[in-house]
Amino acid sequence: LLVLLVLLGNRIYKYYEASKYVDDTSDKNVIKIGFSLGTLKEERWVKDRDIFMAKAKELGAEVFVQNANNDDEDQLKQVKYLLDKKIDVLVIVPNDLKKASAAVEMAKKAGVKVISYDRLVLNSNVDLYISFDNVKVGKLMAEYLIKRYPKGNYLIINGATNDNNTKMIKEGYDSVLLPKVKSGDIRILGEEWTPNWMSEYAFQSTEKYIQENYKIDAIIAGDDGLANGIIEALSEHRLAGKVAVVAQDADLAACQRIIEGTQLMTIYKPIDKLAGDAAKLAVKLAKGEKLNVGNTIYDGKYNVPYYKLEPIAVDKTNIDDTVIKDGFHSRDDVYRYT
Ligand code: BGC
Repeated sequence: LLVLLVLLGNRIYKYYEASKYVDDTSDKNVIKIGFSLGTLKEERWVKDRDIFMAKAKELGAEVFVQNANNDDEDQLKQVKYLLDKKIDVLVIVPNDLKKASAAVEMAKKAGVKVISYDRLVLNSNVDLYISFDNVKVGKLMAEYLIKRYPKGNYLIINGATNDNNTKMIKEGYDSVLLPKVKSGDIRILGEEWTPNWMSEYAFQSTEKYIQENYKIDAIIAGDDGLANGIIEALSEHRLAGKVAVVAQDADLAACQRIIEGTQLMTIYKPIDKLAGDAAKLAVKLAKGEKLNVGNTIYDGKYNVPYYKLEPIAVDKTNIDDTVIKDGFHSRDDVYRYT
């Protein structure tokens, strides 16, 4: 009898938790998706947001968007707000890989499915992780440099430590660079991490290594925003274009720098594919359909389905056939300063 009572109590509690977010006045037939972004600072996130919203709308869903501006508490509050709106699916770009698990838990308690978007939320057993192959992002960066600078001094300016992508990228470049360090071909001058992916911090880090009179041959930057700070510091010492810099995102400014010759390469991640597919999968989840995703990724506790997209290394030689051909940026914009 006691067991039965406990089970019943549990059921009532769960029902109560779920019902807290139910507002009987709204249209039950429209699928509602909450999109919680950790930041909109980098150019790409605006694309993510706009493409996701357009695609979801096309599929008949309604989207509510929130931006936490790199604030973990705000992100949690915003997810609570989205759950109060009675969303069917939460799509979250976590600001913090671990702290965001509180938001996922809250959603799950409310019976809401969760997609971890671009960045993985750890230990949370999300229903889906959709992103690019971020390990490959790091691998492509290192391979590109090693091919051109098989010997030399490398500097690494990573993104934020509270972003799981930073770890995945490191795993990727380490797999290529560490054997070269062992063989004595390359030397890693230093590895820095940048709070909140702030380009000012990347500027200062680079400045520090220049001041210490290191001869820097190549720099791996966590993203194009960081590359921006790095290249500014280099140019103050007339080193821009003399040090090989690679990064990711294919930001417009980075594409322009590639044409100009101050940045060598960027990893292009077609955001329309990521955002468009995420919208489709979110709608499927809302309808209770199966996703059939082949890959999985370990989140520290669980293996979760991983919908993985391919990143592409872009330099002067293929920018026309990739970034421009896809309409990611217009030719006029990319070649503006030539
Ligand atoms: C994304 C990058 C982005 C960075 C800073 C990473 O998680 O994968 O594309 O530049 O966050 O927002």
